[in-house]
Amino acid sequence: MLVARKQLPLRPAGPDTVDALLAWYDAERRDLPWRVKGRKRPDAYRVWLSEIMLQQTTVKAVIPYFEKFVARWPSVADLAAAPLDDVLAMWAGLGYYSRARNLHRCAIAVMERPDGQFPKTEAELIELPGIGPYTAAAIAAIAFGAASTPVDGNIERVVSRLFAVTHPLPGAKREIKRLAATLTPAKRAGDHAQAMMDLGATVCTPKRPSCLMCPLQQDCHAHARGIQETLPRKGAKGERPVRYGTAFLVLREDGAVLLRKRPPAGLLGGMLEVPSTDWSDTLMPSDMAMAGAPVRTEWWPVPGGIVHTFTHFRLELQVVRAIVPPETPLTFWAEPDRCVWIARRDLHKAALPSVMRKVIAHALKEQ
Ligand code: SF4
Repeated sequence: MLVARKQLPLRPAGPDTVDALLAWYDAERRDLPWRVKGRKRPDAYRVWLSEIMLQQTTVKAVIPYFEKFVARWPSVADLAAAPLDDVLAMWAGLGYYSRARNLHRCAIAVMERPDGQFPKTEAELIELPGIGPYTAAAIAAIAFGAASTPVDGNIERVVSRLFAVTHPLPGAKREIKRLAATLTPAKRAGDHAQAMMDLGATVCTPKRPSCLMCPLQQDCHAHARGIQETLPRKGAKGERPVRYGTAFLVLREDGAVLLRKRPPAGLLGGMLEVPSTDWSDTLMPSDMAMAGAPVRTEWWPVPGGIVHTFTHFRLELQVVRAIVPPETPLTFWAEPDRCVWIARRDLHKAALPSVMRKVIAHALKEQ
């Protein structure tokens, strides 16, 4: 027997929705190290740092990095005064390394302002390096109480369900942002933004949202229609292209590993890497790949390979390994000016991105 879905009186999302959400937040908010208890406003430096770290990364992954950063650099002035290499090394493992370079540039830009403080408005914040519309709105709302509306993936999902936006993303982004702004209260805008983030992360989850526990259930048009799990809709996505390359792991007899600093701009800019061929769209014949080796010696292919997924492509690297005496000269292809030898015991401290840590672990696993 089919049971008719119980229809609750559906009200348009508005001030009552906001009140319900804030009451829920007061009782259920996540205790995170960049938040402060009660109604006080958190330090803009900590809000900014957490928001930059949280881009493309989970809260769980960010917490230890956030704590390490604020322990070492408790203020924006401390971070601005730190060498970029130290910041990159501390960031290693969090991914998307342009964020770390922009983080450092942004700290310097803040210290160059007459008051050495973060600006308070979205319009000024967005002028700083590495701060986009979402981060500017989040800092303005959370640190300064401005009635700004940050919209990240979590909030996009909650709003698209609350208002039953069935138009697919990314075309629906503008409409979702407009609808989200209709909910932003003049008071407690920062708490409201964080409540939306928490709701999206813990209740209105991508799969199986917990509508029964949701403070907004009575106002939620997607829930009323039973379509919440299908929202937000997404337009068709193309497959990520694949790039290929060969990485050369050179181990010196005294235990040092050859690494190379990447150019400051672009993907993984300023980070260290295991020297490799260019990453190209087609698999290079092995004699051509080996012609680009950083030392002339006997090479051993390491069985298997590593695969790493970047935002815009998938990288497949085959790895070859060699052990050389200390006086071995580097070839022109190694770009010796950018090369450094790092002792194996110090590799954990080096500014190596995850993809290069995978290469090293793979190359050394049978040693
Ligand atoms: Fe999300 Fe369900 Fe709450 Fe609607 S009722 S906002 S779908 S958790």
